[in-house]
Amino acid sequence: MFATRFAPSPTGYLHKGHAFSALTAFAAAQAVGGRFVLRIEDIDATRCRPEFEAAIYEDLAWLGLAWETPVRRQSEHLDDYHAALSRLEADGLLYRCFRTRKEIAEAMASAPHGPMEVFRGGPLPPDEEAARLAAGEAFAWRLSLDAAGRRLGGFGDLTFVEEGEGAVVARPQVGGDVVLARRDVGVAYHLAVVVDDALQGITHVIRGRDLFEATHVQRLLQALLELPTPTYRHHALLVGPDGKRFAKRDRAETLRSLRERGMSAADLRKELGFG
Ligand code: GLU
Repeated sequence: MFATRFAPSPTGYLHKGHAFSALTAFAAAQAVGGRFVLRIEDIDATRCRPEFEAAIYEDLAWLGLAWETPVRRQSEHLDDYHAALSRLEADGLLYRCFRTRKEIAEAMASAPHGPMEVFRGGPLPPDEEAARLAAGEAFAWRLSLDAAGRRLGGFGDLTFVEEGEGAVVARPQVGGDVVLARRDVGVAYHLAVVVDDALQGITHVIRGRDLFEATHVQRLLQALLELPTPTYRHHALLVGPDGKRFAKRDRAETLRSLRERGMSAADLRKELGFG
């Protein structure tokens, strides 16, 4: 059965761009009598706040959306993500990265073939790693593109369907050796998303073009974890009068400030093309 989702992170108030994305997914589900799932992506406890989560429910209800309950809140399912992480680790696909952000920036700037756009490091020699672990140094788990490529025999067969465009060959190299877990954030976005999309039976991921590169990384994780791959639709991003895309920092365009200024949900839906 067709199932799509809207998966905001409660790190700020929803703005028009979110409304467009949520309405796009909701309309797609309604058109075929499918499921519409709201998922709260709140694994980064350092950035998420309860008042933003409460505002998500309020703003989406105001907009006229209805979603399945109970809502999956990622912070309540960390065991699921850790199981996926353990599996990747057991398969030899992860390595511990002890570098600080500054060290990574330096390593990328001085890469042998010119500056790297994304980080690729690789594990430390075992004795150095053991010493750093014994010293209690913090590390992040990174996915090794080299190990993943060996496991899959290259990335040539890795494709996903972009609705209306057909098969796209995934290029997980765009993400480099992505971080999948850190000490402060026990599991990273990419991993939680692929686990949840599979667990929730999501058949269509409808989200903004800004997440197109994320799909390439997520497609690789699906292959490594043997999860199904949904169909994707990356919609164009809504831009403001200044031609720039909306961001959480644009306070004036949050749904609550529009509402406070007297805009009705019907007006907004119409403006966004869902009238
Ligand atoms: N939680 C992500 C965000 O708020 C969206 C994730 C997704 O749609 O896959 O940007």
